[in-house]
Amino acid sequence: DRTVREIAAGEVVERPASVVKELVENALDAGAGRVAVAVENGGIDGIRVRDDGAGMSPDQLPKAVAKHATSKLGDIGDLDSGVATLGFRGEALHTVGAVAELTVRSRPPEADAGAELTVDHGDDGGVEPAGCPVGTTVEVRDLFGETPARRKFLKTPATEFDRINAVVSAYALANPDVAVSLEHDGREVFASNGDGNLRSAVLAVYGREVTESMVDVDREGDAGVSVSGLVSHPETTRAGREYLTTFVNDRWVRDGDLRGAVVDAYGGQLAPDRYPFAALFVEVPAGAVDVNVHPRKTEVRFDDDAGVVGAVRSAVREALLDHGL
Ligand code: ADP
Ligand code: MG
Repeated sequence: DRTVREIAAGEVVERPASVVKELVENALDAGAGRVAVAVENGGIDGIRVRDDGAGMSPDQLPKAVAKHATSKLGDIGDLDSGVATLGFRGEALHTVGAVAELTVRSRPPEADAGAELTVDHGDDGGVEPAGCPVGTTVEVRDLFGETPARRKFLKTPATEFDRINAVVSAYALANPDVAVSLEHDGREVFASNGDGNLRSAVLAVYGREVTESMVDVDREGDAGVSVSGLVSHPETTRAGREYLTTFVNDRWVRDGDLRGAVVDAYGGQLAPDRYPFAALFVEVPAGAVDVNVHPRKTEVRFDDDAGVVGAVRSAVREALLDHGL
């Protein structure tokens, strides 16, 4: 039923960037060393995510796109125990298949051939043999093509692409040991080398000038809060806040309080409406943070909001002071 599908879709898949996020998380969950994202027209016309991870056997493919199918949730206790994998709801592929033309092509390392499955706006086309490299390639076309109410909410391709860029950038920064690349309309936007170095990932994503201006943050704070990463020189800023990237327990998080704490640390040195670049990792005890506030999982709630915010502010402040800034 279309209404049910549309409502369900809104939980996970709101726009091209949310599709990209789910597919990249799946690739990382599959242990990929390389994740290549290519999109067309801001992702509206096409999204392709290719990885070299564990892959799926032909009989796993239908399960991957089935409703509430996940291979990741051992028992419900996992939900409380700090969530080891990024995805655990088993909804993403099913939902994308319901609102787009989805093709999943996959080959596990031990198999000598691959297989593919296409789901066309909810119609499952069955599994076919396919030639493909080891790993998984997921292609999404005609997103919301049969759900005009949702399609109508998409912004311009440029805006949709900005959001995709923010998502893929965040995952590249959070996973310096994975080579992550992004291509838009056939042009490479960035490619990290996966050498395990945060500065290398930052260089790929933010460019040389920004990276050279960045100072190291590294502080084991009070109450179990640790803050590490890189923040830019007060004069190396951007009008938008989307490159002030923050992670909590390695999960990408967009939180106004955390961003505010970073901005505060500059003590009025930033020009009005300018934001520093950052790739900042906050570690808090697993029980002190609730990551399941929203199905799209980029929001968190801390037990001790003020404590975390204070720790982030002091850590960044200390790093800037150390560099005479
Ligand atoms: P979830 O990630 O919450 O389990 P998804 O709908 O995103 O749910 O994926 C369903 C299942 O499909 C996963 O649990 C996994 O077994 C399989 N899968 C999806 N993407 C990949 C991938 N890139 N590589 C290997 N397996 C995958
Ligand atoms: Mg998933």
